[in-house]
Amino acid sequence: MIYLSRKMYFSAAHSYRIDEWSEEKNQIVFGPCSNSHGHGHDYTLEVMVKGKLNDKSGIVVNITDIDMVVKTFVQKELDGKFLNKENPYFKKNIPTTENIVMYLWDSLDGKFGSCTLHKIRLHENDFLFSEKEASTMVRLTRKYHFSTAHRLHSEQLSEEENLAIFGKCNNPYGHGHNYYLEVTVSGEPDPVTGMIANIADIDRIVDQEIIKKFDHKHLNLDTQEFKDLNPTSENVAIVIWDLLSPKLPNLYKIGLYETEKNYFEYYGPEKE
Ligand SMILES: [Zn+2]
Ligand SMILES: [Zn+2]
Repeated sequence: MIYLSRKMYFSAAHSYRIDEWSEEKNQIVFGPCSNSHGHGHDYTLEVMVKGKLNDKSGIVVNITDIDMVVKTFVQKELDGKFLNKENPYFKKNIPTTENIVMYLWDSLDGKFGSCTLHKIRLHENDFLFSEKEASTMVRLTRKYHFSTAHRLHSEQLSEEENLAIFGKCNNPYGHGHNYYLEVTVSGEPDPVTGMIANIADIDRIVDQEIIKKFDHKHLNLDTQEFKDLNPTSENVAIVIWDLLSPKLPNLYKIGLYETEKNYFEYYGPEKE
């Protein structure tokens, strides 16, 4: 099986609100997204299909055919629209990123001839995306940033071994990185709010548990978590999972960019 994906863009306006609720309740649940006049995003949509290779042509499917199917649908139903007012589905369902992904999946599944739809990923902006595969679950990923110093050094290795493994990262004074953290939760969108989890809650928990602890700190010297633990990105990802999972019951994955070039993923102890 070969997997291939096509990326495309559209812009749309939306508002998160339930008309039967009071203004106050809409504000509490949806925050600034509840503005009835709407706000908008430039969305990036990635559609991945899978299929068997055609030995003669050397392709699975003409990727411009995929583009045509998706683009035709997106231009007709989503692009340039105020979703709550102009799209029949979103007159009834709140156009959260999770719900837009569900809608795209249900609308595009089965439309690719010999290929099967495998994954839909929708970026609302650089710091939020939602994705779905064949299961009923939808995943929502929020991205955060922190800067911190560390020294890669294990007390269980000799000075020579530490230097041999970690090289300049073993510098006794430490060095630092711009970390980008992805927190992914998984679930079925709530039928009323269209949300898997309230992003404002996730933001608050990540700020309390991670950003306040690690941002502009020296991991080895300033944090309890890494006092006796080598702050490799593997360990940072595991520690972040352990700090967040008690507060985020539907946590699915921690993704950690140590630098633009180094990326680590952890799915929790049960999925090892
Ligand atoms: Zn929005
Ligand atoms: Zn480093």
